[in-house]
Amino acid sequence: MQCPNCAYAETKVLDTRNANNDQAIRRRRQCLHCGYRFSTIETMLREGIFVMKRDGRHEEFSQKKLLLGIERATQKCAITLEEVDQVLNTVLQHVERQESPVISSRQIGDWTMDALKQINHIAYVRFASIYKEFRNIEDLKREIQALEAPPTLMADDHSQAP
Ligand SMILES: [Zn+2]
Repeated sequence: MQCPNCAYAETKVLDTRNANNDQAIRRRRQCLHCGYRFSTIETMLREGIFVMKRDGRHEEFSQKKLLLGIERATQKCAITLEEVDQVLNTVLQHVERQESPVISSRQIGDWTMDALKQINHIAYVRFASIYKEFRNIEDLKREIQALEAPPTLMADDHSQAP
């Protein structure tokens, strides 16, 4: 297991416990080089799940790539390792529930955004800004306003109109 901080290859396991109703194993690790601490989640994934990318190419689903994407989106935010794991697990659960062996990268992006939205709004907006490739600041503002507005105010209710 490579250290996410310095890329050194050896870590020691500090703690191992079951997570997600025993469907996953969480390991607390420490880098033997720089001492950085991080958690890994190991879940049992079906073999042979493929991701269809935007250009139509298929590649094998990689939990590691998913984790890297989540970490990249959340690195400057006040988000804990636990929260990152929570997002990862939520997305993995969706992946597991799929009957089709091919999932679009767009679908995975949507699951990730939904999970982030529940946990950390700043991380969500950051991720969304990359994922949705906002063309300008107006798009970003709309996204933030949508987060702040209570659902009742967003509903287009004309029933009270005279
Ligand atoms: Zn390290």
